[in-house]
Amino acid sequence: MTRKRIIVVGIGTMGSAACAELARRGADVIGLERFSIGHIYGAHGGQSRAFRLSYYEHPDYVPLLKRAQTLWLKLNKDMGRTIYHPVGGVYLAAPGSDFVRLSYEAAMQHELDVELLDAKAVRSRFPVFDIPDDWSALVEAPAGFIVPEWSIAAFADIALRHGAELREGVQVLGWDTTTSGVRVETTSGFVDGDGLIIAGGAWAQGLAGIDGLHVRPSRQVLGWVDAPASASVDFGQLPVWALELEDSSVLYGFPRMDGLPGPAGFKVARHWAGPTMDPDNLDRSTCNADEDDFMPHLRQFMPSAVGPVLDMQACVYANSVDGHFRIGLHPESDRVVVAAGFSGHGLKFQPVMGEVLADLALTKETQHAIEFISM
Ligand SMILES: Cc1cc2nc3c(=O)[nH]c(=O)nc-3n(C[C@H](O)[C@H](O)[C@H](O)COP(=O)(O)OP(=O)(O)OC[C@H]3O[C@@H](n4cnc5c(N)ncnc54)[C@H](O)[C@@H]3O)c2cc1C
Repeated sequence: MTRKRIIVVGIGTMGSAACAELARRGADVIGLERFSIGHIYGAHGGQSRAFRLSYYEHPDYVPLLKRAQTLWLKLNKDMGRTIYHPVGGVYLAAPGSDFVRLSYEAAMQHELDVELLDAKAVRSRFPVFDIPDDWSALVEAPAGFIVPEWSIAAFADIALRHGAELREGVQVLGWDTTTSGVRVETTSGFVDGDGLIIAGGAWAQGLAGIDGLHVRPSRQVLGWVDAPASASVDFGQLPVWALELEDSSVLYGFPRMDGLPGPAGFKVARHWAGPTMDPDNLDRSTCNADEDDFMPHLRQFMPSAVGPVLDMQACVYANSVDGHFRIGLHPESDRVVVAAGFSGHGLKFQPVMGEVLADLALTKETQHAIEFISM
């Protein structure tokens, strides 16, 4: 049987995992990346990405996350380094909020190892939080974070070791189906294949050419704060944390620890849809005004952690209309697979998305339950 030749557009988060999985299964893989692998212009920069299983966004994500967790632990073992740090998680919210309630319901439905805490217990276990008495929290033992720079490098490495060809500095300009496959036009000529995966992140809308996809890129700010040594924010004192704000956006962050790529300090950010931007003209510089994204909330809920802002970075989300992913075969051709709309919460799914995309590209179907996020 001849090997299927699959072209993957975008060797970012999902594209790198798809290249690795396809190559591991014996496909002839060509990955095309307009920048370099691990660049800072996409969605995958900035040192850390939260991994949660108790998914308030939709309980059907949980089986995918269980598989992702197995694959993250396997990746740690295979690569001989800690890319996924299972440091636990705590999620906090005011009474009546869906954030903790739906996380808890998803956890119960899928028998996850979680614990509910009242405000007094939160303050005693995680003294950095200064929350009102009527708040509650969910503690999740198997949560943690991933270092995206390392996960993308690892998947690219696995792809190369299994014979994939990964081309950097090659921008895809367009694609079309032919009688027997697909033809992709790039800044370095045409590439022919049997199938195509579009994993273009913030550029997915233009690449996929699907009117109803509606992927909206937005600018997001990450901050690193010089929290005082007395603040209980270090690895061992604080897990990955997320706290719902009054406007339903979520302040979140990571334990401070040495040995990670990028800036030092206590990393904090806010998860929200954000202002729409053209990803080709995204303002990556940051200014004092960007601190307003997270510092007022830090002052309110974690005052002991407040210190000078050491560094900030701007990154890009690719928001779908409802915040859910859009995965599946292209409506005009089943030779083309689209992975889009990861809406600021996709990285934790990277290895399982590699499996889903490889399934769809090679067999046009997958055993993973993705109906609720299908195109
Ligand atoms: C600030 C921030 C914080 C986040 N926090 C979390 C978190 O805590 N937990 C979590 O799970 N997720 C988080 N996310 C979301 C997660 O990082 C993204 O959902 C995920 O990285 C999206 O992957 P992607 O493959 O769609 O996009 P990307 O990783 O950006 O990859 C797309 C790739 O396609 C390439 N490309 C685009 N157009 C072309 C073209 N024409 N030709 C060739 N190549 C092209 C791009 O250069 C890029 O490399 C966060 C995202 C941001 C920005």
